[in-house]
Amino acid sequence: MNEALDSTGGAVPGQRFPRQDAGGCGPDDRVPEGVMLTTVERLYNWGRKNSVWPLQFGLACCAIEMIAASMARFDMARFGAEVFRPSPRQADLMIVSGTVTKKMAPQVVRLYNQMPEPRYVIAMGACAICGGPFRDGYNVLPGIDLYIPVDVYIPGCPPRPEALLEGLIALQKKIAGQPLTGAGRPRHLDADAPGAFPVPEYGAHDLVGPQLPAAPDA
Ligand code: SF4
Repeated sequence: MNEALDSTGGAVPGQRFPRQDAGGCGPDDRVPEGVMLTTVERLYNWGRKNSVWPLQFGLACCAIEMIAASMARFDMARFGAEVFRPSPRQADLMIVSGTVTKKMAPQVVRLYNQMPEPRYVIAMGACAICGGPFRDGYNVLPGIDLYIPVDVYIPGCPPRPEALLEGLIALQKKIAGQPLTGAGRPRHLDADAPGAFPVPEYGAHDLVGPQLPAAPDA
């Protein structure tokens, strides 16, 4: 529908509005003749990045900011990620929001293993990234990336809801840029990639179990 209107607001048959400039934002500006060409890769990634459903769980004070991000003022629904799922089977994104104690770490890894691929992890706040103010405590894990792969790190104590939204946008950009084949393809398209990660166990004095190699510097 791109017909011009007469002075009464009625459509003038056969007469069309002039095209907007390149900065226009109506659908007719982006799809001039109702036909859009794209690649399977872009369409596939577009669907993935706009339907990232987080797992509904929180660990400490950062979770309050995560909850605020989903409420009306910050409205995470604008990014297609408002459907917090109560089951890991239905979730795409784990937001590790809060202090990960060594008592809780095995449960976090187990929940992650129960999520289907493609799945993503955001480490929200200093505690989830490195232990935060409790880093030197005997009972706090110095970073969840010791046991599960993290896609986006959001620093802060706590990060504000806007920071979580920015982290989500960063994750969406990462998803949009992933090739479906070749070396940079996502884990769920790589038959050799691990499907589950070792769950740490309690040893005599600390958690024991294989840890992931340190992430390369950005
Ligand atoms: S980073 Fe700060 S706000 Fe977040 S869980 Fe740790 S202590 Fe709480």
